[in-house]
Amino acid sequence: MFLFVSIIWGIALTSITISHNVVEAANTRIYIDPGHGGSDPGASANGLQEKDIMLEIALKTRDILNEQYSGHTIKLSRTSDVTKSLNARTNEANNWGANFFVSIHINAGNPTGYESFTWNGSYDNKERTNATRKTIHNETVEQTGFTDRGEKEANLHVLRESSSPATLTENGVIDNAEDADKLKNEAFIEEIAQGHAEGIAKGLGLPAK
Ligand SMILES: [Zn+2]
Repeated sequence: MFLFVSIIWGIALTSITISHNVVEAANTRIYIDPGHGGSDPGASANGLQEKDIMLEIALKTRDILNEQYSGHTIKLSRTSDVTKSLNARTNEANNWGANFFVSIHINAGNPTGYESFTWNGSYDNKERTNATRKTIHNETVEQTGFTDRGEKEANLHVLRESSSPATLTENGVIDNAEDADKLKNEAFIEEIAQGHAEGIAKGLGLPAK
């Protein structure tokens, strides 16, 4: 009887240990937020709407991460053209227990290029946040050849209200004719997504498949 119990107990312990490890390895929760959507188109110019392009970038970023990397779970704030408030996005990410929040946007009213933001407040994991932002920033600039407009800080809702490290990327300038032409090109969208995926994976230490 004692022997029997120990065997069962041994098996139970083994399976707990294994499942615990598996859960840990697959447990980096990445919340990808294609900004705007639905009744909020974001910036519009040159026949493009910000909400459409960033949705394409976000879906491709998710697919590349799932195809090329392991150790993570991804949730998107939207996978179609729907209206969603900023509060709904950060509440969803926080309730889900996101480990990283990345919001994808297209700029307007600025010179050409790429820039990224983190929250300008003072908070515990600021250094780690900026380190992960840097890998996404550098990989995206490298993949796309975008003019580097710099790593910046701002008091933006999604950055401030996210419980996890968070960054917001501005991928080109929609009312700049040259950037708009690039953003109409499927291969260029792929490059932006590849930059985001590789930057996220490197920054969060996801193993390549
Ligand atoms: Zn935007």
